[in-house]
Amino acid sequence: SSIPKIVILGAGYGGIMTAQRLQKELNYNEADVTLVNRHEYHYFTTHLHMPAAGTDAEENAYVPISKLVDEFKIDLVKSNVKQILPQEKKVILEDGTLSYDYLVISLGGEPETFGIPGMMENAMMIRSINSVRKIREHIESQFVAYKTDKKPERLSFVVGGAGFTGIEFVAELADRVAELCRKHGIDRSAVKIYNVEAAPTALPGFDPELVEYAMKVLQNKGVTFKIGVAIKECQPDGVVVGDDLEKIPANTVVWTGGIRGNRVVEEAGFETMRGRVKIDEYLHVPGYEDIFMIGDSALMFNPEGRPYPPTAQISMQQGPVVAQNILAAIRGQQPKKFTFSNKGTVASLGKGEAVGIVGDRKLKGWVAAQLKKVIDIRWLFIIGGVSLALKKGKFL
Ligand code: FAD
Repeated sequence: SSIPKIVILGAGYGGIMTAQRLQKELNYNEADVTLVNRHEYHYFTTHLHMPAAGTDAEENAYVPISKLVDEFKIDLVKSNVKQILPQEKKVILEDGTLSYDYLVISLGGEPETFGIPGMMENAMMIRSINSVRKIREHIESQFVAYKTDKKPERLSFVVGGAGFTGIEFVAELADRVAELCRKHGIDRSAVKIYNVEAAPTALPGFDPELVEYAMKVLQNKGVTFKIGVAIKECQPDGVVVGDDLEKIPANTVVWTGGIRGNRVVEEAGFETMRGRVKIDEYLHVPGYEDIFMIGDSALMFNPEGRPYPPTAQISMQQGPVVAQNILAAIRGQQPKKFTFSNKGTVASLGKGEAVGIVGDRKLKGWVAAQLKKVIDIRWLFIIGGVSLALKKGKFL
């Protein structure tokens, strides 16, 4: 048919926003839209540190995509994207091929291990519902096994990276460990939790006063920081850190130290920097009027020339602009430039604690923790309305 085909790859923050906007704006028979995702659900990546530690149920971190888009208007395809062929305008899936007139790449990022030996093989990573289930079950099994074999490395936990993900996870882990100690009758002082960061500070780039506050909160929960200390190697039974190659024995290592672009994007032949494509202000892949890229695999610079960090916030703002620009292309209109509007940053520090910056206001403690909940619930409301917010939102 002559109806343009729009294919969206990935149903994360960017992909869902793009699909929902297209579904709302497209006229009958104006375009065919297909949304491809490797799972049949959308997960709230920004919430995954909680089910990973076991402080919240896995069910509160995902929702079926069919609840978010209208299947009369959008074809849902559950499959793995294997390859993008930009010259042929085709996408190779594990079980078929799609051709497109307009392509939206919103596949998210992948963990970056900076080539640290053993990290890919031995560390666990917070990436998906399946990966966080593995982390939670692993942590629980260490406590159970410790009761019989009393091996100290079972109660030693290393979190690699003290960026936002590392800090948010280590906070939940500390809360969870206290609970597991009570449950299994283990003394809390037998447990060691290390947060190792190579940069000279935790939460690099964040407000120093709030960083100090965050570290105090976490130290009080029993977290030992090793800041300005690089992990040199990850082994099956622990990590080797620092210039003096100190070994920290640990049966559990969770790596949160970096994000790179998706391999599929790199392999498509686009010019990439650590797997990310520097997109233009209309969110095109340079040189391809028919390909848009958003989210963790896209690289954009702020007016001062610094790259925006990969966040859900920027991804969900890019989605509707991509949808508008595809509509504009179909209708022969001018595309719109994307401008990022910073709504602030909040990092949770476990139960009842958080730090954040909104505008020029610094927030900490209970107020920041409440704001974090509002942000989470806002996303549920945007994509699924009141019913989803009530069903999955944490109000207490
Ligand atoms: P994603 O949301 O990652 O979605 C990509 C989708 O594509 C996924 O559904 C995935 O399954 C699918 N996919 C990937 N590869 C394939 C393939 N080959 N085939 C088919 N499907 C595929 N950001 C914030 O702004 N605020 C926060 O508070 C915050 N907290 C965070 C806390 C944690 C624990 C983590 C891990 C991240 C946090 N982030 C936060 C970052 C944020 O989650 C990411 O920047 C955001 O998810 C990126 O969105 P995206 O649209 O690029 O892709």
